[in-house]
Amino acid sequence: MGTSVRLEIRNNMQTANLILGGLEGKRFPVDISVSQSCLEIQSPDGCEKHPLPQEVQLFPSTCRYLQHVSGEGLHVRLKAHVDYKADTTPTVKQILKREEKYTFYCQSCGAVLIQQQQFARVLPLPSENWSSLVEEWCCHPDPFANRRCFPKVNDCFLGDTFFLVNKANLSDPPGETNEMSAVPHPVDANVSKSKENTKVVCKRCKAMLGESVSSDTIKYYFTEVMIQPSCHAYTMISRNQFVESLIVQLLLEFSHQKSTFRFCVQGQNSKHYLLLWLLNADTVLVESTSTGRSNSYFFSGNATSGSSQTLVAQNVARLLYMQCIDKSHTEFVNKWINETGAHSLTFPSSTCLELILLLSLNNAALPHSLRSMNDWQVAYLKM
Ligand SMILES: [Zn+2]
Repeated sequence: MGTSVRLEIRNNMQTANLILGGLEGKRFPVDISVSQSCLEIQSPDGCEKHPLPQEVQLFPSTCRYLQHVSGEGLHVRLKAHVDYKADTTPTVKQILKREEKYTFYCQSCGAVLIQQQQFARVLPLPSENWSSLVEEWCCHPDPFANRRCFPKVNDCFLGDTFFLVNKANLSDPPGETNEMSAVPHPVDANVSKSKENTKVVCKRCKAMLGESVSSDTIKYYFTEVMIQPSCHAYTMISRNQFVESLIVQLLLEFSHQKSTFRFCVQGQNSKHYLLLWLLNADTVLVESTSTGRSNSYFFSGNATSGSSQTLVAQNVARLLYMQCIDKSHTEFVNKWINETGAHSLTFPSSTCLELILLLSLNNAALPHSLRSMNDWQVAYLKM
């Protein structure tokens, strides 16, 4: 059995945490040598070489921690240099502002929602705190209270996790159902009537895409719609890969814009699903493709050859999460939401559950000692 390599590098601090697993399966003595560009494991079974990716260099002389953790392998801490920057994918907001025609698809099945569209105006909606700000700063009542912003034809208004378009821009106005009202709803004064209005589902696969917010306005969630240049052929991305990259994008965007690293994920029914805490986004993860995250295939859809021992580097965001659907941490959750300034992110409930599953599988694929911090679970999301 081959050795598994997991090298986690904090780019800003230039420190690395190396875990060599699978050593137990070897006949002893096992001789491990670490050089600047290669890891070598010598045993009576043979010699294994793991050349590091070009962008990564280790400094073996700086090793200041060495411990064998039973069931996981050898943990080594040392200095590293990494010169790796993944191409950043443009955000939905950046894409929509480009002068190019885009086609909008249902992410789940590829059905076309909006054909060859270039919006005349792409504008951000006022933030959720806008009205309370106005109330604090103005000596007169908020003149915009009870007035909602709806897009005209060829307008696109951007919210935190959704965009609004005029129904006239849709290639085939989506079917509306009253399924929402069939789902029992806790009576909650905060849930306005508008939240209970009809949801918009994909005509082909019935995935929930958004809501109809007025007679001629549709709200689509970023997590449910794929936007691609009309001049390119449609390319399918696995659902998990899409959700993973989109969530990371949103977390990074908000942490830059609003300097908040704490988030609360809630469903469109205002139910809380997850607390997220973005720890850092400067981590580069180097793993052996055949033995690394056992669920990588599930997330990325990239089938990798079982015999390959190539080490691959990728930028990841490291975050803590706590699911709160089972109400086991109610007091803590309330405190987190009300007192820490956590930013709320709203998605369809089914997507919130997908996100919990994605994080849980990601967490389960980590070495045991890295899986939790206090009451929080740890996950690494690919950028
Ligand atoms: Zn669909």
